[in-house]
Amino acid sequence: MKDYKELANLIFPDVKDRSYYEEKYPVRSLKEGAMVVRFAPSPTGFVHIGGIFTSVICSKLAKQTDGVFILRIEDTDQKREVENGVEGIIDALKKFDLVPDEGMINETEEVGKYGPYKQSLRKEIYQSFAKKLIEEKLAYPCFCKPEDLEEMRKKQENAKIRPGYYGEWAHCRNLGLDEIEEKIKNGEEYIIRFRSLGREDRKIKHHDVIKGNIDFPENDQDIIIIKSDGLPTYHFAHAVDDYLMRTTHVIRGDEWLSSLPVHLQLFQALGVKPPKYAHIAPIMKEENGSKRKLSKRKDPEAAVEYYAKEGIPADAAKEYLLNIANSNFEGWRRQNKTATIDDFELQLNKMSVSGALFDMVKLLDISKTVISRYSKEQVYDYAYAWANEYDEDLKKLLEDDKEYTLKVLGIERGNEKPRKDIAKWSDIKENIEYMYDERFFSKPQEYGCQKIEDKDEIKKIVQTYLEKYFNIDDDKQTWFDKIKDLSEEFGYAREVKEYKQNPDKYKGHVGDVSTVIRVTLTGRANTPDMYEIMQVLGKDSVNRRLEEYAKH
Ligand code: GLU
Repeated sequence: MKDYKELANLIFPDVKDRSYYEEKYPVRSLKEGAMVVRFAPSPTGFVHIGGIFTSVICSKLAKQTDGVFILRIEDTDQKREVENGVEGIIDALKKFDLVPDEGMINETEEVGKYGPYKQSLRKEIYQSFAKKLIEEKLAYPCFCKPEDLEEMRKKQENAKIRPGYYGEWAHCRNLGLDEIEEKIKNGEEYIIRFRSLGREDRKIKHHDVIKGNIDFPENDQDIIIIKSDGLPTYHFAHAVDDYLMRTTHVIRGDEWLSSLPVHLQLFQALGVKPPKYAHIAPIMKEENGSKRKLSKRKDPEAAVEYYAKEGIPADAAKEYLLNIANSNFEGWRRQNKTATIDDFELQLNKMSVSGALFDMVKLLDISKTVISRYSKEQVYDYAYAWANEYDEDLKKLLEDDKEYTLKVLGIERGNEKPRKDIAKWSDIKENIEYMYDERFFSKPQEYGCQKIEDKDEIKKIVQTYLEKYFNIDDDKQTWFDKIKDLSEEFGYAREVKEYKQNPDKYKGHVGDVSTVIRVTLTGRANTPDMYEIMQVLGKDSVNRRLEEYAKH
């Protein structure tokens, strides 16, 4: 055989020229600063919240810069693949309202001009690029069998030298062309390796958008680029795809940081400019005082289904993720209470270098605020959609009298300081059930949590309120004045302040008395605004609730 060009033709006789693909996927005409980013999961059947974190960041940056957010399916490791893995990923993204601009839209279809967006369908593209590398003597076939490699590994281990396929250990890099030709013609199995020109004793410098400046030793390993099944390895597919998809920023987990020298080297060998890299630290969890990665096995909140099942709104989860992405988000939110997260300017270089801690309390707190800003109709629709999937009984409750339920959900909503007692849709039943007479009376009520403990006193207060003060037509001020009158009548201070100044003079204060009414009416010591509750319950229900109590 004459040269490497001939070898390349022998190995890949039918693939198109690399320039064909470069023309087919031209440089994108986007405005200056537009970011082309991609989420590139493997369809392994599990979507980690870390993947949603990456996607939130990608989607936000693309939107912010009029760029492109791509969903690319990395299925070259076909052993790890599961059935409907692609749908699983797309559904998970959809649950968080993350809709890529380009990429797979279901198991088989896609949108965008830079596809296919599923790596197993791009075999010929990788082979075309590998062919060019072989022609240029930058790649070669390797015939080493697994047992040869195992033996080599043992030798290296015994001699205490760096493991791997490099330098003098890279047996097949020095095979003569005729020898190679013979092996191929004899049908020997092979893979394609990259011929590394790197040296371990030399350093490369790199600037990562998140991690900053880093030094690495050059890569000297002849890594595999095309496997025996003809598919590429992750490293090679990454370089080819992100070049042809014209990715500007590779945003991915920092477990890939150590592969960066290989990736930069591959871009150099392909003769093209690498994208910028931003390596995201994983979301961490604190356990017994130490930090570890949020784990798929140990932490239910690592799985995206958790959020759907609990009924944590996508808006809340996204807002929380932005919160841990950029620490200035919190301050921005304080100043822009009603803005949507689209108005926040996310900055990659403000992301934390080490992983942010996952804080469920904070997430639920954010969720309470997010839900507090929803209209009663939105709350109804979201809660209904959740109940439809997870709680038949709640679904029934919501359906039975929609008009009344909307009134219940409207309590303390749409004003300056909306109610913040709902963190997730799975909380809602408990938070509204007492508003329905049928349910309220069918459960034995516990009238605990009261400052005033004397049953007779409580009964008298309730009875007196009912007979003398309660009038559904009162406006809020009159209503409250009457509760004060009631308090005074029983020897309680009209104002908390008065009581504090003179505690010996009173049995307690107006708050203690209104708690009696509240607990009697609802069975709970904490509720949204009691005046509004009475208005929604209506005269008959309030009467009945107070009477029932006075009876027992
Ligand atoms: N398929 C890789 C993974 O799931 C993607 C890494 C990348 O974004 O390049 O980790």
